Amino acid sequence: MKKDDCIFCKIANGEIPSKTLYEDEDFRVILDLGPATKGHALILPKEHYANLYELPEDLAGKVMKLAKKMATQMTEKLGCDGFNLVQNNGETAGQTVFHFHLHLIPRYEGDQQKIGWKPGSPTQEELEDIKNQIV
Ligand code: AMP
Ligand code: ZN
Repeated sequence: MKKDDCIFCKIANGEIPSKTLYEDEDFRVILDLGPATKGHALILPKEHYANLYELPEDLAGKVMKLAKKMATQMTEKLGCDGFNLVQNNGETAGQTVFHFHLHLIPRYEGDQQKIGWKPGSPTQEELEDIKNQIV
């Protein structure tokens, strides 16, 4: 299903033009308009899924395969020194467009970007409690 008021539905399906790097029946890969680095791109499914929780399993598998293919091609062509895959779910996690997308972010030595977190220092007991909460 497409969502009428979703900009990424329109881009993914070609109703709004984009700098497209790749397209198949399930996905379009476009350059991000507010790139973290040169070549920052987004993998967009053509159907509307708000986030990872809504994404069907078969597409979740396909998206990682496509990420590997794109990362390989982009690294070769752009000569980047590293690569981040980033995928935000929910406003708290930094999601601003509520149509699933996977960020492909080439990294260059000295690019001054920060993608990370401040590490915590839990005790073994705390880690055990968390593990038991999850599984
Ligand atoms: P997120 O914060 O994970 O939801 O990422 C949204 C991303 O979409 C940001 O990196 C934006 O720069 C990018 N973005 C928003 N609108 C457009 C657009 N029309 N075309 C390309 N990228 C976009
Ligand atoms: Zn959408």
